[in-house]
Amino acid sequence: MTAAASVETTAALAAETAGHDAAAESGQLLPRSVSGIQATSDSLHLGNYIGALQQFVEHQEHHDAFYFIANMHAITVEQDPAELRERTLRTAAQFIAAGIDPERSTIFVQSHVDAHPKLSWILECTTGLGEAQRMTQFKDKSAKKENVSLGLLTYPALMAADILLYQADVVPVGEDQRQHLELTRNLAERFNHRYGATFTVPEAGILKETAKIYDLQDPTSKMSKSAANPAGLINILDEPKALTKKFKSAVTDNDTVIAFDPEAKPGVSNLLTIYSALTGDSVDSIVAEYEGKMYGHLKVGLAEIAVEKLAPVRERTLELLDDRAELERILLAGADKAQAIADETVRVAYERVGFLHR
Ligand code: ATP
Ligand code: MG
Repeated sequence: MTAAASVETTAALAAETAGHDAAAESGQLLPRSVSGIQATSDSLHLGNYIGALQQFVEHQEHHDAFYFIANMHAITVEQDPAELRERTLRTAAQFIAAGIDPERSTIFVQSHVDAHPKLSWILECTTGLGEAQRMTQFKDKSAKKENVSLGLLTYPALMAADILLYQADVVPVGEDQRQHLELTRNLAERFNHRYGATFTVPEAGILKETAKIYDLQDPTSKMSKSAANPAGLINILDEPKALTKKFKSAVTDNDTVIAFDPEAKPGVSNLLTIYSALTGDSVDSIVAEYEGKMYGHLKVGLAEIAVEKLAPVRERTLELLDDRAELERILLAGADKAQAIADETVRVAYERVGFLHR
C-alpha cells in the first residue's frame, strides 16, 4: 500500500467510526449511555442503587442504553466460581427489578462479548504503568490484600474498553469512578491522536449530590459491597425488618440538630442525602420538615421510605430469579446486540494499530 492510499484508508475509517457520525449513519438518534456493575455480592447496596442504578433507569428514557454485569472485573479479586455465576444472574435480576427495561435498554454479561478483553489489551498497551499505579482504587484495594493480581492494576484499561467499545457519550457512575473515567477519556484522546479518530470521548454522568453514599456505621467511608461492618451496609435485597434496624442504628453524632453539614455532621448528612435521593425532595425541604425533631424521627422516617422503595425491588428480583431461563434469554439477546457494535469497534481498532487481517 502506498503512503497516500494508507492515509486515505485512515481517513475513511475515521469518518466511518468517529462517534456521532457513525451513530448517525447507523440510525442511532439518541446519545449512548453505557455502564456496568460488578457481580461481587448477592445483593447490590444502596450506594449502587442511588449512585448508579437510579441513573441507569433515568437514562434509558432519553439514551440508547447499554448496561452490563461486570463479571470480568469481579475476578480482579478472588471469587468462588459457583458464587460468581449465581451473583451474575442475581445482579441481572436486580437491574430489571430496579426498573431497567430489557425491551428498551441492552442488558448483558461482560464475558459474553469477547470484544471487551480484546480492546482492553490494546488499551493496556496505551496506558502507562505509573498512570495505572496512581489510580486510588488500585491503591486502596491492593493495600488491603496480600496477593494483588495484575488484573487489579489493569482494571481501568478493561473499564475503558467497556466504555469505548460502544462509543459511549455518557457513563453514569458514582464518584469513586471519576478517576477511572478521566483515564478512559485520556486513553480515547491518546489513541485518537495517534491513530486517527476512533473513539467517542465520553462524559462522566456523576450526580453531584448523590454520587457518594457512605457506610451507616462509618459515615466517612464509602458504602461498599466489601464493607467491613455489615450493619453499615444497606442491601437492596435486605428484608424490611433488617433495613429498618440498620437505619435505626445508623451512627450520627452527640449533637441533636438535624442539619446538612458533611464535614461536621457526616452521619446525619448521609441520611439526608439518602432521603433526598429516594424521595426526589431537596435536602433543604427535608431539613425544614424535621425541624425541632430528633435524629430518631429522621431515622424512622427514612427507614419507612427505604422499605417502601426497596421492598418491591426485592420482591420482583426474587420473582425474576424463579425463571432463570427467561433471565438467560434476556442476557443472550443483550449480548447479541452489544456484540454487533463492539465487534465493529474492535475491527477498526485492530486495523488502526496495524494488526494484519486474518
Ligand atoms: P466493590 O466493593 O466490589 O468494588 P462496589 O460497592 O464499589 O463494589 P461496584 O460494582 O464497584 O460496587 O460499582 C458499581 C457502581 O456503583 C459504580 O458506578 C460505582 O461508582 C457505584 N457505587 C459504588 N459504591 C457507591 C457508593 N457508596 N455511592 C454511590 N455510588 C456507588
Ligand atoms: Mg467498586
